[in-house]
Amino acid sequence: MTTHVDLAVVGGGISGLAAAWEGRRRGASVAVFEAERRPGGKLQTSPFAGVGLDESADAFLARVPEAVDLCHELGLETELVSPGTGSAYVWLDGALRRLPPDQLLGVPTDLDALAASGLLSDAGVERARQDLTLPDDRPAGAPDESVGDLIRRRLGDEVLDRLVAPLVGSIYAGDCDRMSVQVAATQLAAARDHDPSDASLIRAARALRARAAETERPVFLAPTGGMGRLAGALADALGDAVRTGAPMIALGSEGSLWRIEPAGVTADAVVVATPAFVTAPLVSPVAPDVAAFLAGIEHASVALVALAVPRDGIDHPLDGSGFLVPRSAGLLLTACSWVSTKWPHLAVDPSTTLLRASVGHDGDDRGRTLPDGALVEQLLADLGTTMGLHAAPDEVRITRWPRSFPQPRPGHLAAVAAAERSLARQAPRLAVTGAWARGVGVPACIREARAAARHVLGVTVDT
Ligand SMILES: Cc1cc2nc3c(=O)[nH]c(=O)nc-3n(C[C@H](O)[C@H](O)[C@H](O)COP(=O)(O)OP(=O)(O)OC[C@H]3O[C@@H](n4cnc5c(N)ncnc54)[C@H](O)[C@@H]3O)c2cc1C
Repeated sequence: MTTHVDLAVVGGGISGLAAAWEGRRRGASVAVFEAERRPGGKLQTSPFAGVGLDESADAFLARVPEAVDLCHELGLETELVSPGTGSAYVWLDGALRRLPPDQLLGVPTDLDALAASGLLSDAGVERARQDLTLPDDRPAGAPDESVGDLIRRRLGDEVLDRLVAPLVGSIYAGDCDRMSVQVAATQLAAARDHDPSDASLIRAARALRARAAETERPVFLAPTGGMGRLAGALADALGDAVRTGAPMIALGSEGSLWRIEPAGVTADAVVVATPAFVTAPLVSPVAPDVAAFLAGIEHASVALVALAVPRDGIDHPLDGSGFLVPRSAGLLLTACSWVSTKWPHLAVDPSTTLLRASVGHDGDDRGRTLPDGALVEQLLADLGTTMGLHAAPDEVRITRWPRSFPQPRPGHLAAVAAAERSLARQAPRLAVTGAWARGVGVPACIREARAAARHVLGVTVDT
């Protein structure tokens, strides 16, 4: 068994696997130490009701290159599919209402279509319209702010509460009034800073949508075998370099080398790609300030409940990818994905509909704490209220994801950059990365992890 490698990676989720892959492609010998029996971390696809169903992420954003590029490198491009529909609903005022297609993360681009949608009051639409004429109120130097502050200022409370918060909040299981716009809504931050001479978010969103449409790429993609296939293909490509059931409990040193304990393997360079609260104690002896920053990142817990229900037990046409539930609705349910419509290749039995229902967000810990029976009972009641589910499920699977969504507060990116600079000074060949750094989305995890590997390997030019 190898006892020395150029690059050791701790954590075999998509971040750790991508870091090792980058190292391997740069010619380094690599080893990945993963605590669990199977690699992939949060990317898990498991059998459910006759298909492979994702237990967390079910797609990645395709309009940014990192995940698509990785799929090409792994030869997965022919396995990628996009959702069968881009249309979705939101639960508002006691009904499921279709989200207007002309929006960017909830920022409307067509105010007439917004008015016709009935999602906002007349006053709410007029308040949103003010964005077109309000003076430039961007903070000088474009520092970070919360998603809520930006949207309330430009477009008003209704756009935030009824459009932006359900969409952005569901991506991060977060509270828009406490989430960094730079991290949680990168596209909105880009829109805000788009044109130095024009502060209108609506005009910026129109320009960004037009530019995205030119690329003709789908918004989301996923392997037909589920997101677990991406992690699995990556782990397979790395082969014996991935050691499962191999937690690192301490990072030691041996002269100028790092030592992974208890495996006893030495490495010239190390990337730690575990959740922030796991990474903190591991790097504390080396860089206590970085550890303190990581330990201070707050997390939300969620549960994802898969249900197989008789199709004739639902009073809704299910003509969309699913629906979102704003916090103000007071339900346990935060979102429901209509799997059989969203992913037609998973609709193998027309008499059965597959659903994925989400619970929990920043400030609501019930995804972690509610006992199984109560969780399912309350969810079924919510699904009855919202989408007319009136039949008992044939199959149910609960996946808990405690402390799974790091919450980027305003100023997060600057704090991450400061932590990275400090770590580089104290331990130049040690890097930390993961979903806590610059975004939870799979492409962001891949981008950051590959950059971390290049950094510790001393690759200065990205070729
Ligand atoms: C319910 C849910 C839905 C999501 N939906 C989407 C989506 O649709 N699209 C999208 O892009 N993203 C989505 N995400 C986010 C995305 O899945 C995650 O941000 C991403 O998979 C995190 O990858 P990671 O490698 O950074 O962390 P993880 O997947 O958490 O991997 C960390 C790994 O480190 C291991 N580990 C922990 N401690 C140790 C130790 N001491 N030694 C060795 N190994 C250790 C863990 O076992 C784990 O395998 C979703 C997340 C959740 C929870």
